[in-house]
Amino acid sequence: MKNFRREELLDDAQFSARIFDELGFVHRLCPKCKTGFWTLDSERVLCGEPPCEEYTFIGRPHGKRFDWGSMRRSYIRFFERLGHTPVERYPILARWRDDIYYTIATIACFQPWVTSGIAPPPANPLVISQPCIRFNDLDNVGKTGRHFSAFEMMAHHAFNSREQHIYFKDETLEYAYQWFTEGMGVPPEKLIFKDSWWEGGGNAGPCHECVVEGLELCTLVHMGYEGPGPDGTYREIPLKVVDTGYGLERAVWLSQGSPTAYDAVMPGVVEYVRGLAGVTRVDPEILAEYSKAAGVLDVETEGWHGLKKKILGVVAGRTGSDAAEIEEMITPYEAIYAITDHSRAICYMLGDGAVPSNAREGYLVRLLIRRLIRFLRSLGLEEEGVLQKVVKKQFDTVKVLFPEIKDREDEIFEMVDLEEHRYRESIVKGYKVVRKTVKKLREKGEKTIPLDELKNLYNTHGVLPEEVQRFVGTEMVVNIPENFGALVAMEHSTPIRPIEKHQGELEEKAGKLSHIPKTEILFYDKPGQKSFSATVLHAEGNLLVLDRTLFYPEGGGQPADQGKIGSGGRNVRVVDVQKVGDKIFHITDNPSCEKLFTRNEKVTGVVDWDRRKKHCQHHTATHILIGACRKLLGDHIWQTGSQISEERARLDLTHHKNLTREELNKIERVANRVVQATLPVRSEMMSRTLAEKTYGFRLYQGGAVPGAEIRVLS
Ligand SMILES: [Zn+2]
Ligand SMILES: [Zn+2]
Repeated sequence: MKNFRREELLDDAQFSARIFDELGFVHRLCPKCKTGFWTLDSERVLCGEPPCEEYTFIGRPHGKRFDWGSMRRSYIRFFERLGHTPVERYPILARWRDDIYYTIATIACFQPWVTSGIAPPPANPLVISQPCIRFNDLDNVGKTGRHFSAFEMMAHHAFNSREQHIYFKDETLEYAYQWFTEGMGVPPEKLIFKDSWWEGGGNAGPCHECVVEGLELCTLVHMGYEGPGPDGTYREIPLKVVDTGYGLERAVWLSQGSPTAYDAVMPGVVEYVRGLAGVTRVDPEILAEYSKAAGVLDVETEGWHGLKKKILGVVAGRTGSDAAEIEEMITPYEAIYAITDHSRAICYMLGDGAVPSNAREGYLVRLLIRRLIRFLRSLGLEEEGVLQKVVKKQFDTVKVLFPEIKDREDEIFEMVDLEEHRYRESIVKGYKVVRKTVKKLREKGEKTIPLDELKNLYNTHGVLPEEVQRFVGTEMVVNIPENFGALVAMEHSTPIRPIEKHQGELEEKAGKLSHIPKTEILFYDKPGQKSFSATVLHAEGNLLVLDRTLFYPEGGGQPADQGKIGSGGRNVRVVDVQKVGDKIFHITDNPSCEKLFTRNEKVTGVVDWDRRKKHCQHHTATHILIGACRKLLGDHIWQTGSQISEERARLDLTHHKNLTREELNKIERVANRVVQATLPVRSEMMSRTLAEKTYGFRLYQGGAVPGAEIRVLS
């Protein structure tokens, strides 16, 4: 197959489309940013997007007016009429992935199994509206009028394989055009399709970004390549994916022409927080000019402090007001907007089962809660229970649009309440820690608190840098990076994969043994069988590979089987079993298996049955225990780890507080009742897509599992 350099894939043919020819779009090159774009407006010169041009919709809405709910409903219905099957949203906690904690885009729902062609999509083509969480712009939230930590991405996807072609670039652009003009009522000459390139997660492709009145409304990726490879080139892939993303908040914003996207999507919460804090309403004209000026400037590369001065200067010039006065009016609004955004993200995360903690997904939700509390305090809202009030107000809207989390209400508010108490505690304790740190640093002659120390004070003691600053006063310099939130969030937003013992070595070996057929697995079909006969495929050092095996490899929290393999009086002890790819390696106590066994020799394997049985019982017991905990403590209970041995089993669960003796007794009683009922354990292999539909994402309790087929126990 041919390898392409990126330049070869950026020629005009990649960006042309049927609809551009048919409707007479012209292709232009923006003289400012040198980006190619398509437009029906023959007089248009610039690409239409900031920083080349300002927003032109604020105060001048176009087409039909939408709110959050009506936007989602209209979009889904529109694409349903165009032949797409609506698919329920996925959890915001990406339990099926081992590389991210939260769902960051609609395509993340289908990666890696569907996008790589291993599992079929739940429907094809499909339409979905998916709440997503991102932390990379965390510190711009509330300031720019358009950044969110939680947002809803609407999308239509098609998965084209060699066997089945659904649709690709031409239709994608036609559907987008129809949605914007008919669905939203945007005048066709206002639509601009910019040429761009997208790559991520090993896939790549040309894409079009649709811009209306300065606002980027969607990205349409025609994902047809894999790469870049080590040499920087790309290859065509058989599975071509239509990957689109339409920002719901931005579309609602455009339709209303309000000063910010927050005002458009969550006006009730904005007003509620403003009222609570007693902040004077800002003249909408000033807010509008502020948003426009902020929209043109690139906060993602320039720092905020400098930008804010520039923006204030521009707004002062345009409205004839004083820059300092505007700043005084606007600054509390930044907090109000951030509170509005963060409270929604918190409802999503807790609603889908995240539990605040110092690790994994819990770290990120706690970070948002703490930031939210600090924003409230910056508005003078320090009284007990105020956090709960705000989250409750937000939840009233969220539960209408996400009725599936309605039942979690009590759990969510209990956790929020606890977190508020913990924040107070961390401030009391934090004060002492900060004073100690200051003393230590000053003894060393330091004048500034280093960034690492600020991170440590937050990560270990829960004290945000703004609180540190308060405690330090003028004794030392505290330089808080503008992106502190994103900085610590990004350091905690990808799971660290445990490095499996000797997996590296085995992987290398497996690579060399790629000519050997995959190991036939006997332990699922014959769970009661203790011995088996097999043929030696490879013997080298302490490793034995057979054509089939009953030995259970380490995995799913259960340790490997042990036992022996032998033939004609020659025996080796199996001390460990590892699965690499589709082969199972028996690691033995004999360093030169090749001297003992020959290729194609028949051998007999015997599993150490006492050990296996205890593992199985402990494994089943952990499942019963999780069930009991969920029943008694709530739906947020999730397994984060387990360790099973012959003697005991350990189970790590997510819960927001320590268990009382009474709760422990209850859990024990419920679990014992299940054990005494001696229910049968059923097991079946199921396609991933069907299993997710049938059982939901509880499937991934023990961690994400690979492959098209997964084994489900009930
Ligand atoms: Zn431009
Ligand atoms: Zn299990």
